[in-house]
Formats: sequence, C-alpha cells, structure tokens
Amino acid sequence: MAKILLIDDCPEDVTFTSILIERGQLGSCVARGSGASAMDACAEFTPDCLIVDYHLPDMNGCELVEELRRRHGAHRLAVVMLSGSPNDALPGEAMASGVHEVLHKSCLSIESLRVGIRNAFHRLEMTRRLENEARRHVALAARLDLMIEGAEIGWYDWDLDTGEVECGGRFHRLFGLPKDAPVTKEVFFARIHRDDRQGIEQEMQAVIAKRMPLCLEFRVLLPDSQARWINTKGRFEHDDDGRPRRLIGMVQDLTEMRRAQAEARRNENLYLTLADSMPSIVYVTDPAGLRTFVNPEWKAFTGRSGDAWRGLGWIAAIHPEDRTAAEIAWAASASAGRPFMHEYRLQHATGEYRWHLSRAVPVLGASGEISQWIGTSTDIHDRVAAEDALRRSNQDLERFAALASHDLKEPLRMVSSYLNILTIRYASQLDAPARSYINAAVSGASRMTRMVEGILDYSRLSHQILAIRSLDSGRALADALTNLETPISENAATITHDPMPMVLADQVQMTQLFQNLIGNGIKYCSSRAPTIHVSASLDHDQVTFRITDNGIGIDPTDVDRIFEMFTRVQVSDTIAGSGIGLASCKRIIERLGGSIRVESMVGVGTTVVVTLPKAPYDREALAPEPPR
Ligand code: ADP
Repeated sequence: MAKILLIDDCPEDVTFTSILIERGQLGSCVARGSGASAMDACAEFTPDCLIVDYHLPDMNGCELVEELRRRHGAHRLAVVMLSGSPNDALPGEAMASGVHEVLHKSCLSIESLRVGIRNAFHRLEMTRRLENEARRHVALAARLDLMIEGAEIGWYDWDLDTGEVECGGRFHRLFGLPKDAPVTKEVFFARIHRDDRQGIEQEMQAVIAKRMPLCLEFRVLLPDSQARWINTKGRFEHDDDGRPRRLIGMVQDLTEMRRAQAEARRNENLYLTLADSMPSIVYVTDPAGLRTFVNPEWKAFTGRSGDAWRGLGWIAAIHPEDRTAAEIAWAASASAGRPFMHEYRLQHATGEYRWHLSRAVPVLGASGEISQWIGTSTDIHDRVAAEDALRRSNQDLERFAALASHDLKEPLRMVSSYLNILTIRYASQLDAPARSYINAAVSGASRMTRMVEGILDYSRLSHQILAIRSLDSGRALADALTNLETPISENAATITHDPMPMVLADQVQMTQLFQNLIGNGIKYCSSRAPTIHVSASLDHDQVTFRITDNGIGIDPTDVDRIFEMFTRVQVSDTIAGSGIGLASCKRIIERLGGSIRVESMVGVGTTVVVTLPKAPYDREALAPEPPR
C-alpha cells in the first residue's frame, strides 16, 4: 500500500481528502499543514506519494516539491498537486518543478484522486525510464567519441539534397581544413587529388546504383602540397522512392600504412633479388621447419623442377646415406630453435652427389617467437675434396717423417756405437788428439740425432689438427713448469708470472710454447741464477705475453734470424740445442693467429713478446702464484 503524505493547511480539506484516500483504499495517509513540517516528515519516513496543496502558509507547493527533490533526490516521489482555483499557469510551473499531476479541489472525488495518483506514479516511472535512457545515450556518445578519437578516424553525415556535410572526429584534420570550417560537397571534392576525383565520382554512382556500401581509397592534397592517403567507408540512406538522401561514413588516414606496405614490398623485392642472385641455394621454412621457399639456385643445382621440395620434400635430393642424419639434425634445430649447421651430399642435376654445407637461422617475430627460418645450402664439395687430399698428404708426410727419422737415426746410432767401441777397445792406443776427435764425432752424431727429432716435431706441428678453444693460459703455464722441473731446480731458477688470462688456443701447443721459451730463458743464463717473469696484458681483442729473462741476451742484429730453422747464435756447443725451438714457437703462434718477436740486450737479458687472440670472455684474473 502506498505511503501518502498529504500537505494542506486547511483542516476541512485535509479531512475531506483523507476520507477520500481511506474510502478509496488509495494508501495510508499522513497529513502535515506546512511546507516546513512536510520536509521534517520526509526526513522521518519515506513517502511514496505527495498530495500537496499549492497554497501553503510558508511557501507554495511547487517550491516545496523542488526543495524535496533537491534534498531527497529527483524522481523518488510521485507528486499530485491540488489547486484551489483554476489557474492556467499552474500546470506548466508545476510540471517544471517535478509535479506529475494537478487536480482541482472543486472536482475532487475518490475516482479523480485514484486516477490522479495512478497517473502520477505512471509519469514518475516514465520520467525515470527517460532519464535512464538519456544517461545511457550520454554514456554511449562518450564511448563513441572515445573510439573515434582512439581509432583516429573522422565521420561525416552528408545530406545529398543540400550538399551540406556534418562531420566530426578527425575529419577536418585529415582533410587539412581549419577546425570547425563548414564542409560542403565542393569543399570535400576540392581537397581530393585531381587524378582521383573522377574515379571517386564514378565509383559513387556505381555504388548508389547497386545499393552497395561505399569503400574508397583516394589522395587528399593538404595546404602544404603534401598528399595523404584516405580510406572512406560509408552507407547511403534512401527515401521510399529509392532515391539516395544521405551518405553516412567514416574517413581514416592510410598514409603510414601505405608507406609501410611500400617499404615492406621494397624489402621483399630486395630480399628476393638478393636470394635470386646468390650463388648458393637459399631457402625459407615455416616456424615448424617445413620449407616454403627456395631460390632459383635450387632448380639450377638439382635440376628438379616443380615444388616437390616443399615441406620436407627437399630431403629426397640428399644422398640416401646422409638423409637420416640430416633429418635428425634439422628436427633437433627446428624444435630447439637453435641455428642449424649440417653437411650432406646433395644430388646435382648431372646425378653426381656433391657435398653441401647447410646453415639456417631462426627469424624471430615481434613477441620473440620463431616466425620462420632462413637458410643457405652451399656447395663445399671442392673444399671437402681439398681437405681430404690435404689430410691424406699430411698422413703421408707424417709417415714419411717418422720413417726418415728412424732411417736417419739408425746410421747415427751405429756411428756413435762404433766410436764408443773404438774408445773402449783401443783406449791404450789412442793419444789425446785422437780421443778428442772421437768425442767431437760422438757429439756431432748426438746433435744430428736431436736435429732429426726436431725436424720430426716441427713437421708434426705444421699439420697437427688443432683443438682451438677458450683456455686458461695459467693451466698451460703450470703444465710447462711441471715439465721443466729438472732444469729449474738444477739451475736454481726463479719463475714468476702475472695473473694469467683466457686465450683462444690449443692446450698442447700452448704448453709447448711456454716450455720452449722458459726453457731457453733457463738454458741461456749468464753467471747469475736465472730469473724469469711471465707477464700478461689484455688488449682490445688480444692478449700479450712477455717472457723476460736475465740471461746472456742476443745481439740485436740476430733477433730476426733466430726464428729460422737450425739457427743458433753466439752460443757455445756446450749448451745443448738444435736451433729448432724458436722456429717451432713461430709456427705454433702463426697457426693460432698471433705473433712473436724478441727484444734483447747482450748481457742484460731477453724478452720474447707473444700475442694471441683473446678468448670471447675474460676469466677473472688469477692470483699470482708464488715463485718456484
Ligand atoms: P736452441 O735453443 O735449440 O738452440 P732455439 O730455436 O730455441 O734453439 O733458439 C735459437 C737461438 O736463439 C738459440 O740457439 C740462441 O742462440 C738464441 N736464443 C733463444 N732464446 C734465447 C734466450 N732466452 N737468451 C739468449 N739467446 C737465446
């Protein structure tokens, strides 16, 4: 049952209206005699309906309704106003203040009150709905504005009869028009590039005739003479006779997209030209590793036309013995996203199988996922054949060197043995000069033996397969010092070194290098006890080692010669040597991609300066080891 608040200062009228409400069972009624007391009552309870007299002692009914709406929110109450006298202006004023129904007291009855209250509730509901609808429209319009702004588009509504165009969003900006400038059909066409105007008009006629949506791309010439590509999509509205009356649509700037497309086309052309002109087979695969493209070199090499190479079809051109390994290697790379590198024999158009080196790298998309693979397959057959020939010739050479060493050392051993027998058996018959001749012959034979061994070592150095990798030069130095333990202790030598860096080298040869150079420092010592220091410094991409001794030194005119085979300078025969050590060091360094030279001063000492490529990363410097 509705809670009704009746506000009237005339007791008789209150009684009469209350009776009508009660008899008609229109609701429960509470009555107040003034605007102020009505406001207090509304603060205490929430009525559903106000029946208010226009004439109140403290204010008029419209003012009261406005105040209550202000205090308690609009449209909470259905309001029926009672007017004592016919007053033409009242319904307008009353409706404006939020009154829903006006009844004249003179014709008040149960029925008129029932209808009045029902109308008031009905209008209150209608008002609520309209307001909700209006709020929804405002929100929709705000959302639409946001979308238009976010999408950076403009819109237009073109009256085809008057030629007037209403527009918004980015329309003016896209057409290079001053903000709020009036837009007409003429203004619109004046902005369009001369070459595109006719096409647009024809297209519009065609679209109108076919009653299809409009979709056009054209150029707009801006005031600074720059052209901008615009796309418009629109819809014609027709009258009942099928005549187009309006065109509603949107415009969008395509300039950047077109520029990016042109750039992409240019890049693609460049990439295709590059792929076509490559002397190798170039291929592209999808992310899963299935081939999607090969350049013309594929057909030129294999003689296979058609697209049987697609997917994994290319494997059919591989030598049957190499297929499984190639498939496994490719599947492993494709699934792990690792660069692919594999050698296999590929069948040439002549039917001959030729060795190929295939490499492929993954191409990553914007979010880091593999979007495709790009690879090449290069004919390395001649290189492989040359390497095989070299390997065979090296093996022959090594066999030959070992044989030669053995065959040369055998007669030398015989010479030494017979000289020894001569010394022992004929000791009593030999005078001092004869014995010194025999000693000289024996030492010559042993020197010859060392030289033969040196030649063998040197020849091995030249063709030994190197295992070049990042290694700790400190390890190589420590191994060399272990091998040199005897001469170090016999000569009471002191060896010190800096923190040793990582280098790109072969462990065995690096050890041999330190051993030869430090061994020379000990061997060619002066009267002082040998003191040798190994320093190491890192440069941009190389490491420099300096092996400095305090020995007899070398005449500066000899420092280049000593790297030649069998060259020994200013040394007595009492110091064992073959003149091959430094030649071997030079060979080692050359193969590792470094350099070697000597700085020396006679009587002061010698420094051998060695440079080597630095390892890709530097290990933390090692603490210097104590002198040995
Ligand atoms: P080897 O020591 O067997 O004679 P090397 O090739 O190692 O042969 O050295 C060639 C020559 O260079 C040596 O004979 C010696 O005259 C000279 N030489 C090498 N290292 C030193 C050094 N640290 N101090 C003085 N002379 C040296």
